[in-house]
Amino acid sequence: MKDNNVHDTWDRDHLWHPYTSTIDPLPTYKVESADGVRIHLADGRSLIDGMASWWCVIHGYNNPRINRAAIDQIEKMSHVMFGGLTHDPAITLGKMLLEVAPPSMNNIFYADSGSVAVEVAMKMAIQAAVAMSGNPDKTNFVTIRSGYHGDTWNAMSVCDPVTGMHSIFGSSLPVRYFVPQPRSRFDGEWNPADISPLADLLEKESDNIAALILEPVVQGAGGMWFYHPQYLVEAVRLCRRHGVLVIFDEIATGFFRTGKFFAWEHAGVEPDIMCIGKGLTAGYMTMSAVLTTRAVADAISRSEAGVMMHGPTFMANPLACAVAVESLRMLRENDTAARIARISERLNELLAPAHALDNVADVRVLGAIGVIETRKPVSVAEFQKECTRRGIWVRPFGRNVYIMPPYIISDEDLSTLVSNMIECVRVC
Ligand code: PMP
Repeated sequence: MKDNNVHDTWDRDHLWHPYTSTIDPLPTYKVESADGVRIHLADGRSLIDGMASWWCVIHGYNNPRINRAAIDQIEKMSHVMFGGLTHDPAITLGKMLLEVAPPSMNNIFYADSGSVAVEVAMKMAIQAAVAMSGNPDKTNFVTIRSGYHGDTWNAMSVCDPVTGMHSIFGSSLPVRYFVPQPRSRFDGEWNPADISPLADLLEKESDNIAALILEPVVQGAGGMWFYHPQYLVEAVRLCRRHGVLVIFDEIATGFFRTGKFFAWEHAGVEPDIMCIGKGLTAGYMTMSAVLTTRAVADAISRSEAGVMMHGPTFMANPLACAVAVESLRMLRENDTAARIARISERLNELLAPAHALDNVADVRVLGAIGVIETRKPVSVAEFQKECTRRGIWVRPFGRNVYIMPPYIISDEDLSTLVSNMIECVRVC
């Protein structure tokens, strides 16, 4: 095996990969192609994918139906500006999204990526909150610790202040209100004390706060934590009482990843604004959307500005919309809820042996997400070397070794994936 087939030296010397040093980068593995749940490396090895390329490849790679939808759309047009023009892919997708979104959602803003959706949602919240209250100071945000909302400026400002990037960007980041992470587990007892810090804060500061932003039920990149849905019920009730809008960031949790179409359904309480992305285009290309109520949209339109102040070049990209439409059709036709319930059940069984390992602090499963929390941070380079040697693809961060495979994974592949993942945790 020629090593630079897998770790390309030109790539190492010139291309930035996410969160890597240019002097001492982590190894990168060169991929030739991918199909189904398999990633084929340039050296001939094939890996069972546990990551769905960071939550988004829900139907697997190189899916014939989605390929077809993309090719059909390319032959009509890949892109046209959305200013003054519209098209069927955007309209069809919008109609389909409103069928599965919380019932009060009415207006859709298509954006470029998850982080941009969060920027748009925060701008939307400020414009609406100021217009609705007549208070020009109602422009700040509250969030819960250990959250993650993306890497752009405002998204960073509401990521966890310790594990996020606050220490690096310091005073250039807007200062937000943070309340503790709810500690009641998703499947445990609800502890009413969890909500007290938010109640106290809103009592004092709601005049300065446009919105609460959080990831419903699953905090993803901030620590893979699954918290009790009652927190959402209480938080939404408090926000309504204090005239604070609610933004649910469903970028990671959407499209059945937690077992429901969207994670708000675990609690049954609706946000005022909702961000979706990742699985929206089944991992084919970047696109996100921000959904909101007619009340929020109209408040912005009646404000002094009169319009929502955002308008990206690739807004409602027809190619991305066409792919998203096909993906939604497949989710609908395939009884995805039953599929995720099956994956969940298998994950619970297959991950159970990990409890016995000395270096494992916790094991948890929700929907098609399986997490092994270790006692000490895992060495990513060492772990991935072992994973690829064993024919699986898992990328841990900090003390979280987790999988969120494509939904099409077979029982046999899931079993191979999990048993090898547990072995990697044991030996690394
Ligand atoms: N919000 C959440 C909850 C996310 O998990 C992510 C991505 N991990 C983002 C926002 C940012 O999305 P993107 O990487 O597409 O900008």
